[in-house]
Amino acid sequence: MSTHSAGPEIERLIALLAKLPGLGPRSARRAALHLLKKRDALMSPLAEALADAADKITACSTCGNMDVTDPCAICAAPGRDPSVICVVETVGDIWALERAAAFKGRYHVLGGVLSPLDGVRPDDLNIGGLLERAGNPVVKEIVLALNATVDGQTTAHYLSDRLEGLSVDITSLARGVPVGGELDYLDDGTLTAAFKSRRPA
Ligand code: ZN
Repeated sequence: MSTHSAGPEIERLIALLAKLPGLGPRSARRAALHLLKKRDALMSPLAEALADAADKITACSTCGNMDVTDPCAICAAPGRDPSVICVVETVGDIWALERAAAFKGRYHVLGGVLSPLDGVRPDDLNIGGLLERAGNPVVKEIVLALNATVDGQTTAHYLSDRLEGLSVDITSLARGVPVGGELDYLDDGTLTAAFKSRRPA
């Protein structure tokens, strides 16, 4: 799809913006125009922030969280309980749980969920790293905080099977979580309650 009057630089900008979640070609064109109009107030600072983030932010080699340090601030924090690991799908879920201050242990980011339809297999997720961490005697509980989607629950069952035999309790969040609900959309109170009343998976 061409915008005809725009040059290749603008076409490229629009094509890249259109790859962002929630933005189609039409909203990408609007965003591009907005950026060009607000060049000093928005476009240049945004370009700098993007370059800075691309340069400095890295994935924690322990848990998969995004931070400027490896291990990340959560893995390195002495005040956080190393005996409980909360398994989440994405870094966005860590942000949601940290916003709610619902959990004081450590995290493990899977990087997605198993999905036959999308061709996501166990090897595509950070499951090996989880099994390794779960085998550490200091770890006593693994909380499966996966979304209440079909794929999320399939993944939770798969992980329970893989973790069986290790000397860890496997728990999951209480389902005040609506079906199809994603952690990121839950209010802080619901998240905290779901954590408090977690139960064996
Ligand atoms: Zn980490």
